[in-house]
Amino acid sequence: MAAKLMNIQTQHNATDLVDSFSRTISYLRLSLTDRCNLRCRYCMPDDKGEGLQMLRHEDLLSYEELLHVVNIVVGMGMNKLRLTGGEPLVRKGVMGFISSLSAIEGLEEIRLTTNGVLLGEKAAGLYDAGIRKLNISLDTMRPERFKAITGVDLFHKVWQGIETARELGFDIKLNVVAMKGVNDDEFVDFAKLAVENPFQVRFIEFMPVGNDSTWDKGSYLSSKELREIIGGMGELEPLPGCRMDGPARVYSLRMENGNSGKVGFISPISHHFCDTCNRLRLTSAGTLRACLLHDREADLKSLLRQGASDEELRSLIRQTILDKPKGHTLADDPAHCSGQMSRIGG
Ligand code: SAM
Ligand code: SF4
Repeated sequence: MAAKLMNIQTQHNATDLVDSFSRTISYLRLSLTDRCNLRCRYCMPDDKGEGLQMLRHEDLLSYEELLHVVNIVVGMGMNKLRLTGGEPLVRKGVMGFISSLSAIEGLEEIRLTTNGVLLGEKAAGLYDAGIRKLNISLDTMRPERFKAITGVDLFHKVWQGIETARELGFDIKLNVVAMKGVNDDEFVDFAKLAVENPFQVRFIEFMPVGNDSTWDKGSYLSSKELREIIGGMGELEPLPGCRMDGPARVYSLRMENGNSGKVGFISPISHHFCDTCNRLRLTSAGTLRACLLHDREADLKSLLRQGASDEELRSLIRQTILDKPKGHTLADDPAHCSGQMSRIGG
């Protein structure tokens, strides 16, 4: 990993990152691109025949602009970053960008969320660039079903990528979107995977995001229902301090033969974690978004490209944090949120 460089503003005001509800926003999710090499039906449904509207390259923030913004937020006190998308690994030059991020003093952790398709060829480079923790999305272990969900016959490639990452020593979390009638007959197999491998398997409640999303009440499963299914396999015991592990509630699953693994449940709908949410999002369109499930966004890109000073950029970031909504009401009113998941970054 490259030597740490001095941050452009290391002095920060302790209250810069505190929102109106006393939450400290210490974690930035960066969507590097809205493009993807898969077409998961729940995220980028492509069956309208009109083709998906993608951002043009010039609509994305350049790596230079992104580094500028990350330096500013780290100077304000943020210390954790997640790279996401779309598929972050399809953006050209991503390794060099990650190496530059790794050199930012004060940025303690850079994580990556990926669909795994390019991991086989890129995992070693990611490790060299400073990434140690990967979230890999995988909703099925059946090749035919993988093709039905993602539109592409690439299960084996993803699996090989996961194996490569494991051999390199990455800390791996597998993200499984739980969908009734789609992959609910595989939850037990996924939990077994957590027992037999050093992966934490996390079941995510299916969210109604995007106007074209395939979400409907019939396909939604709550974390409570998921815990009942997994609890039938063995003893499910909450791990202490599990709220520290992002939004997941993490449990140890102990089987009758004494073997155990870690499984997590992410419940954005049934038991939302808004009261402890510490996230800010920078979408691939260069807008700041304080909540995944609220469409309000602030146009950071325009400000940047008008030549705004760092102080003006900080001020917009600060205001976005102050405006972060208290929470969402999807549990009471599961109307679709119109944002596009691949642009926002999940
Ligand atoms: N392409 C990368 C991937 O799939 O891991 C990163 C971007 S993807 C938008 C980030 C995460 O959002 C993935 O784990 C994906 O499964 C999840 N996701 C996308 N749409 C979702 C939905 N409607 N409900 C729940 N999770 C969703
Ligand atoms: Fe691509 Fe990830 Fe969305 Fe699937 S969930 S279409 S892999 S961005």
